[in-house]
Amino acid sequence: MSHIYDYLVIGGGSGGIASARRAASYGAKTLIIENNRWGGTCVNVGCVPKKIMYNAAMIRETLGDAKGYGFDVPSRQINWNMLKQKRDAYITRLNGIYERNLDNDKVERVYGLARFVGHNKVQVNDREYEAKHVLIATGSYDMRPTWPGAELSLSSEDFFDIEHLPRHVAVNGAGYIAIELAGIFQYLGCQVSLFIRQGTFLRTFDTMIQTKIMDEYRKAGMEIIPYSKIESLTRTASHPTESVVQNPNAYAHTVEYTNTQTGERKTLEGVNLFLAAIGRKPQTPKLNLSALSDLKYDAKEFIVTNAYQDTHVPNLHALGDVCGKYMLTPVAIAAGRRLADRLFGGKLDAKIDYENIATVVFSHPPSGTIGLTEDEAKARYGEANIKVWSSSFVNMYYSMCDHKGPTSYKIVCEGPNHRVVGLHLVGMGSDEILQGFAVAIRMGATKHDFDQTIAIHPTAAEELVTMK
Ligand code: FAD
Ligand code: NDP
Repeated sequence: MSHIYDYLVIGGGSGGIASARRAASYGAKTLIIENNRWGGTCVNVGCVPKKIMYNAAMIRETLGDAKGYGFDVPSRQINWNMLKQKRDAYITRLNGIYERNLDNDKVERVYGLARFVGHNKVQVNDREYEAKHVLIATGSYDMRPTWPGAELSLSSEDFFDIEHLPRHVAVNGAGYIAIELAGIFQYLGCQVSLFIRQGTFLRTFDTMIQTKIMDEYRKAGMEIIPYSKIESLTRTASHPTESVVQNPNAYAHTVEYTNTQTGERKTLEGVNLFLAAIGRKPQTPKLNLSALSDLKYDAKEFIVTNAYQDTHVPNLHALGDVCGKYMLTPVAIAAGRRLADRLFGGKLDAKIDYENIATVVFSHPPSGTIGLTEDEAKARYGEANIKVWSSSFVNMYYSMCDHKGPTSYKIVCEGPNHRVVGLHLVGMGSDEILQGFAVAIRMGATKHDFDQTIAIHPTAAEELVTMK
């Protein structure tokens, strides 16, 4: 016999929890199913623990700068294991908060793996649950490479299990995760080799961001190996009792790779830990989606929905990473809430606007972007209709330091009124600066509006309202 609900949510991550709680606030009888830790990727193996490690790397960088300000900093050595234990305890507290929030909002919880046994029916731990509306919010997982020895490489999820700072790390990938995790390792003092298959990384971002972060990473000592194709990974030494994540420095790996421009075959030896971050796939394999013959997928196997998060199966919805569009926590949360508003709150037109979503890469320094890159704007509006303002300068913070971190801003405008259609930032504080500008850009701000805004002095962000 099935247990009957108004709303059945599969996945207790960012999107699922947000949608379930909002639905319950309207009085919908709601059940949420999770087979792992409450909070999903962001809380357990994504944004939150990543940001803690990023903060640690930033602090180490700041300790280096502190010398310029007259501080005597005896050691910049991190106790990684101590930080890991505190970080894990913090995440465990967050898991508890997520559970209590669901209970307080009267969302019923089931722990277990959900699989479809009908259009609106799922099975968990031998019990069946049925609802008028079902949401798939099961997220995504790291794609695994397939070359020989790939099983010796770690994923971003494994990153959070590492118990000691490795000496030499190799990272493969060119997107958010590779650039953030390579940066964390580098700025915490590891030797880092980054394998990218093209000439630059972060290629979906404006070229200014690609160039500035590449330059800065190289200046920091990172070895960036462009046009590289990994051929194999072999382990040349191993520790009998502990795994790589427990004790990376007990291991040495050899990376064999080809330079795709010259065809030359090369090796890199002495790598303690190899991390692959080459994109993500939808978390659908265990859902038994073959029970839903009408469901449609895109070329990368992500679930296709309309703008209202409806799949091609009636009353079946999907959102967040499993749909592969803007795989960001705030996007999953907003989509989840809007869907519940529409299904149970009487807001019949509620849907997320996928235009102008601000996003930050926690690189060193951070980089932020909203809207179109310069190239995208020219392609969309025609080169003659685009005007670009840009500025590169040294933030006053570095005036006392030997190290001069980069700051570069670019404003991309369209049409005779110079409506801002893209804003790209590299530099200290860019992650925080961007949010306010995102509001203005969503409201249709023009360059004139930027210019009319009185600057806050002395800041780096004032450059954005004074750019000539
Ligand atoms: P998830 O949060 O992944 O939740 C899906 C849940 O469904 C999981 O808990 C999973 O266990 C569960 N599940 C899956 N299948 C089943 C099943 N069959 N039955 C029951 N439960 C199931 N985004 C940002 O905005 N900022 C960042 O700084 C950021 N950093 C990131 C860093 C890393 C390393 C990674 C990997 C991601 C990062 N992201 C970041 C992306 C962000 O984490 C995701 O976009 C977000 O978590 C997606 O939310 P979701 O609800 O779609 O999926
Ligand atoms: P991304 O899609 O961002 O980047 C993966 C990149 O890896 C590709 O763009 C490609 O770059 C490269 N790549 C693909 N296949 C291969 C291959 N076989 N060998 C070598 N390189 C390859 O994926 P991520 O896994 O980094 O991140 C997934 C998503 O998670 C992000 O898109 C983002 O939405 C989210 N995220 C957000 C963060 C944030 O908000 N700060 C942080 C972390 C993740 P190229 O074509 O240039 O080679």
